[in-house]
Amino acid sequence: MKLFMTIRDIRATTVTVPLKAPLRHANGCHWGRFVRTIVEVETDNGLIGLGEMGGGGESAEAVFRSMKPYLVGHDPAQLEEMRFLIANPTASLYNNRTQVLAALEFACLDILGQAWGVPVCDILGGSLRDKIPFASYCFFRYPNPRTGAGEVRSIDQMLASARASKEKFGFTTHKLKGGVFHPDYELEVYRALADALPGDSLRFDPNGVWSTEQAIRFGQAIQGLRNDYLEDPVYGLNGMRRVRQMVNIPLATNTVVVNFEQLAANVLDTAVDVILLDTTFWGGIRACVKAAAVCETFQLGVAVHSSGELGIQLATMLHLGAVLPNLSFAADAHYHHLTDDIIEGGLMPYEAGSIRVPVGAGLGVRLNRDKLREYSELYQRLGGYPYDRDPGRPGWTPIVPNDRWADPGDDRAVEIPF
Ligand SMILES: [Mg+2]
Repeated sequence: MKLFMTIRDIRATTVTVPLKAPLRHANGCHWGRFVRTIVEVETDNGLIGLGEMGGGGESAEAVFRSMKPYLVGHDPAQLEEMRFLIANPTASLYNNRTQVLAALEFACLDILGQAWGVPVCDILGGSLRDKIPFASYCFFRYPNPRTGAGEVRSIDQMLASARASKEKFGFTTHKLKGGVFHPDYELEVYRALADALPGDSLRFDPNGVWSTEQAIRFGQAIQGLRNDYLEDPVYGLNGMRRVRQMVNIPLATNTVVVNFEQLAANVLDTAVDVILLDTTFWGGIRACVKAAAVCETFQLGVAVHSSGELGIQLATMLHLGAVLPNLSFAADAHYHHLTDDIIEGGLMPYEAGSIRVPVGAGLGVRLNRDKLREYSELYQRLGGYPYDRDPGRPGWTPIVPNDRWADPGDDRAVEIPF
């Protein structure tokens, strides 16, 4: 049988794109930029589909090159076949390719949309909404190493930063990324944010670094606020279940329910109320749609997780959000912390806190090759950065549960290459 089209080539390019300021988190820091690997899958009829994966460098580029013997000559429409071809669950004991599969699935869906003249959301069941609401993502930040601007450490700095992004982008939901300072200090910051933004929804995420008892103390202390949910207060389904018994706020996760086995466990003995679906962590947009259907059946909440995206991955999040009937919360995105993007047209605009679902064929975003080159060269100059190190605390190891907090009074300058 003559196939409609087949995959002819797979290329990967690692880029690094600057952030407005380094983002601090419970495990370390995004050192002033994101590192992403951009994947191009080309077909024999000349279409190019785009994918994106977090991290990068020689090894990531080599992984995508090594997929060519598997996929060249393969029909990009055969996505279930591709799942087993490169990420069979028992073979994955030896090669964990879930995130690689995700990037290739994005690219194949992009190809199919272009070939069929429809946006990816139409392939996935059709769009239920034409724009997706996003939460502002409020981080503690080091100053920009080039300009010295953008620091967020004090309560006043956090409020000024949150107000500025609400003013600029129109957010009405705000997520505070904690787990950096002592929980008592972060509680003060969260309460101040709630006071300063009355009527807006809030969510808090300390990336699972608290003890169960600490999580219960914090959760009980914020019960009167307009919380969407408390996200990953502890690491582990059993700890989450204990917190859930004691705290009268929905719990959310992007860490302990990230595959179907864990989702099944959570259905059988519920520990988490809201599942934050990540198109990379779950192995593709389609896996997230399937997981959302399980959540719909068992009436668990669903939202869209951000693992630090450029425009290609953002497009996957928008198409996912468009087709989920049970998307009951604003999506997360780090996107408003970026200074630029590698897609044509630059950064996608926010309108009243939302981003429009791309309407062009496929993912609806195209590469700006000048930007790809510019940020690939920047990557070659700067290399990677250790996500799990804090440039301000070189001797520190993040343990779980953590008790080694950063000091909000510490205003020493940090050395970050740029
Ligand atoms: Mg999270």
